[in-house]
Amino acid sequence: MDTAKTTSGSSIDADVARVIVDAQRITARIEQLAGQIAECYEGREVTLLAILTGSLIFLADLVRRLPIRARLDVALVRSYPGSATRSQGPTLRLPPEPELKGCDVLIVDDILDSGGTLRLLCDTVSRMKPASVRTCVLLRKDRTDVVDRAEPDFVGFDVADEFVVGYGLDYNGLYRNLPDICVLNDQVLQRAAGGTSA
Ligand code: 5GP
Ligand code: MG
Repeated sequence: MDTAKTTSGSSIDADVARVIVDAQRITARIEQLAGQIAECYEGREVTLLAILTGSLIFLADLVRRLPIRARLDVALVRSYPGSATRSQGPTLRLPPEPELKGCDVLIVDDILDSGGTLRLLCDTVSRMKPASVRTCVLLRKDRTDVVDRAEPDFVGFDVADEFVVGYGLDYNGLYRNLPDICVLNDQVLQRAAGGTSA
């Protein structure tokens, strides 16, 4: 019996209302970001701490353009349970005993919204006595309503305050495999479904 989850359309492209940042622009910007990061850590070894799951594709592309010694570590944070399109507050799971003491840690996330996720990670990592902690996000949402937001050291693109998917970012677990950063059709967002996302 086929137990695969299905949507009403056969192609995910049909669920996309608009492309916000296309794959070509993402590639070009990551090249620039990698240059800035390499310059910042010149002569050092950087530990990239990727916030799963949304940053996976960004991390994979970014790290392969970094011409410096780099280690990879991961942290799992869930903020958007099920079909939520506003953060419900981040909860964190680090891998068992990450060895970050004395490391130059670069926390990598897909998107900055309220800043709660980066703040949680920065606070947690800082308690592990690293040599330094910096942050990098592919997207930064325009949230004029949030005061004292933790601002990243490296930013790919500034985007409007709307819910986006693609290039690793999901809606209810789907759409991470879209090559562009997109906004979904209203009908898709209104379709209630179970599951989790991050
Ligand atoms: P913050 O903690 O800054 O409010 O939210 C950041 C986290 O929420 C990101 O790691 C990401 O998982 C999720 N997030 C925030 N905005 C969006 C969005 O527009 N689309 C998706 N798919 N996830 C988002
Ligand atoms: Mg996330």
